[in-house]
Amino acid sequence: MNLFNVYPLFDIEIAKGIGCSIYDNHGIEYLDLYGGHAVISIGHSHPYYVQKLTEQLEKLVFYSNSVVNSLQKELSEKLGKLSGYNDYSLFLVNSGAEANENALKLASFHTGRKKVIAFSKSFHGRTSAAVRVTDNPKIVAPINEGFDVEFHMLNDIDSVRKSLRNKDVCAVIIEGIQGVGGIRVPDVEFLKALSTECKETGTILILDEVQSGYGRSGKFFAHQYADIRPDLITIAKGMGNGFPIGGVLINPAFEASYGLLGTTFGGNHLACTAAIAVLDILEAEHLLDNAQKIGNYLTCELKKIPQIKEVRGLGLMIGIEFDRPIKEIRSRLLFDKKIFTGVSGTNIIRLLPPLCLSKSDADHFLASFKEVIQTV
Ligand code: PLP
Repeated sequence: MNLFNVYPLFDIEIAKGIGCSIYDNHGIEYLDLYGGHAVISIGHSHPYYVQKLTEQLEKLVFYSNSVVNSLQKELSEKLGKLSGYNDYSLFLVNSGAEANENALKLASFHTGRKKVIAFSKSFHGRTSAAVRVTDNPKIVAPINEGFDVEFHMLNDIDSVRKSLRNKDVCAVIIEGIQGVGGIRVPDVEFLKALSTECKETGTILILDEVQSGYGRSGKFFAHQYADIRPDLITIAKGMGNGFPIGGVLINPAFEASYGLLGTTFGGNHLACTAAIAVLDILEAEHLLDNAQKIGNYLTCELKKIPQIKEVRGLGLMIGIEFDRPIKEIRSRLLFDKKIFTGVSGTNIIRLLPPLCLSKSDADHFLASFKEVIQTV
């Protein structure tokens, strides 16, 4: 059987990871500034994480959500404490798309409405809120499955306000920082106004923190820079440091009832163990502070490079935009300098490293990057 060929691949097989380094099957070391799509939060194969997962693996991987699983309680309590959302409840799922689907469902059940507002260049997974960022003509966007999705320009509060005033929108869904769409940070004033407008019109505000959450921005959630409290917050990626787990943080105004939501694998024992270990390490190693410190340093140094058109982002979620395609720069970084980076569109390099990135790793990248852009 062939694999269904939907991913363009580099001809490199990653066999091992330690901290911010990954190694291919020939033992060649690479600096990982991509974290496998922003997934690696605490670093590859952290010894505490490995120990906790191994211990749990020897006991139990999975049993269904029809019996008590005290790991879910431990996880929700730790997450509430670290994120500042102690009063919210947690629904556990397996991925970012599933988290967003459930958030949209909750919003629709709660309001009785079906219209959703999303933003241009947004990405919320392969969900009802659609794939907007794509050059593939075979993908008909938005992919609507029951929701009527209306797209607005990021930061255009007037256009959103006009639509919300009709009081027929169930939810506005917005990323803490747009990731796939090129690392675009919503204005603080826009987020504040959006939050107020949603409250006044009975619209649910969903903050998609799947990529920007879990400390990546230097705060637990990127929207916390705007000091707002959304109704629903979706999480995944960094939550399990590579182990698939996601969740929805739910405002106390939402009432749970049996059967309202459900999943087979969500919140399984191994996934919860991974997520608890991630929170323990984020806290013990002060990784949010590190993301802010090293992120600021990288951003400051990158802004001094004249060939770059714009540097955007917060913490260790950084977009480097050129006024020309970056394909060659990215290949040279990978094949000559052994540094993995990400991409958005044709002109933007995305940096999404593990949150334990050191200053010497950042300096190594900066020196290599400067060398490469001189010659490409
Ligand atoms: N939301 C955001 C902001 C994302 O960046 C992604 C994935 O890149 C998703 C949702 C979808 O997550 P998953 O691929 O785990 O379904």
